[in-house]
Amino acid sequence: MKQYKIALIKGDGIGPEIIDEAIKVLDAVSSNEKFDFSYNEYLMGGIAVDVKGTPLPEETVQGCLNSDAILFGAIGGEKWDKLPRDKRPETGLLNLRKALSVFANLRPMSVFDELVNASTLKLEVINGVDLLVVRELIGGIYFGQPRQNDGNCAFNTMIYTKDEVKRIAHIAFKSAQKRRQKVCSVDKANVLEVSQLWRDTVNEVSSEYPNVLLSHMYVDNAAMQLIRDPKQFDVILTSNLFGDILSDEASMISGSIGLLPSASLGGKIGLYEPIHGSAPDIAGQGIANPIATILSAAMMLRYSFNEENAAKKIEDAVKDVLKDGYRTKDLSAYDAKEICSTSEIGSIIADRVSKI
Ligand code: NAD
Repeated sequence: MKQYKIALIKGDGIGPEIIDEAIKVLDAVSSNEKFDFSYNEYLMGGIAVDVKGTPLPEETVQGCLNSDAILFGAIGGEKWDKLPRDKRPETGLLNLRKALSVFANLRPMSVFDELVNASTLKLEVINGVDLLVVRELIGGIYFGQPRQNDGNCAFNTMIYTKDEVKRIAHIAFKSAQKRRQKVCSVDKANVLEVSQLWRDTVNEVSSEYPNVLLSHMYVDNAAMQLIRDPKQFDVILTSNLFGDILSDEASMISGSIGLLPSASLGGKIGLYEPIHGSAPDIAGQGIANPIATILSAAMMLRYSFNEENAAKKIEDAVKDVLKDGYRTKDLSAYDAKEICSTSEIGSIIADRVSKI
């Protein structure tokens, strides 16, 4: 029997609650397949600051590098907001992504038929939306040097090299080849030099993918088009900062940020996490939606373990459970037959998985 070694990072806030539900579902899927999982837990974020004095202890990096994949919940919270930047939970996550060289963050967004009413947008605008945000993850303004805040003046540096743009562009074009053959590259080339290099490089890479239709859009327009007509998009290729903002915006197409998974790829080991944060406002109440994390576990099966069948089982079980009207509190206003706690909906999905 194959055994996949998963590093678990639960993190802060709702992190532990949602990861526990993903484990239930993973165990359910492995019970009917020819593989098994072993789990090792590591600290990162605020909890790591409290216990180890650093948001990313060395044993976490080593443990992750020695695993087959990483499943991560979320980090952060007010308690740690006043710490110097290098001690903040978010720095731990940024440094882990860098240590793993996961430069490509894939964020698929589609609308569950059962939840079309959960979106703040009109039915005819969102029905059938199916897009993939390909966000560059370890470059751009989040990492650029120099950076400074002396109390009177502050700056960050948005920097991309041609090679960094090339490698993420290849991921976007390859993803589009498996989808509807369209890439929209989002930048701010009318104002920023770094965006001009981005655009020129994406144009260059596109010549290797003649079957993929490339368009460019300024980020301000893209923010508007995502709400006006999201169906026009297949793959959105963009930088770290723009991708962060646009994918949160796009999450409202699906109705709740608690539904959207992500995969961070490009290094030897993939990192899988929901797109949302640690939601301190609802932590410990048993009302967080674990579906984004459960679907991130499905992405892990697909991209890191090549277990497409098992990934599909989880995705189908989630759809089934939503179709049957089970909802966590964030979605309780939309065709709910039963309102479930985090743990209840996790168990219902796990049960469904083991029956598929
Ligand atoms: P957030 O995503 O944590 O929460 C935004 C809103 O969405 C909140 O009202 C929250 O209750 C709700 N929400 C989020 N996830 C949910 C879920 N699974 N089910 C139901 N509702 C959910 O963003 P924020 O409030 O801006 O940030 C809170 C903390 O998380 C901050 O410390 C921030 O730095 C951190 N953060 C971490 C990550 C990460 O770990 N990858 C990402 C974003 C923000």
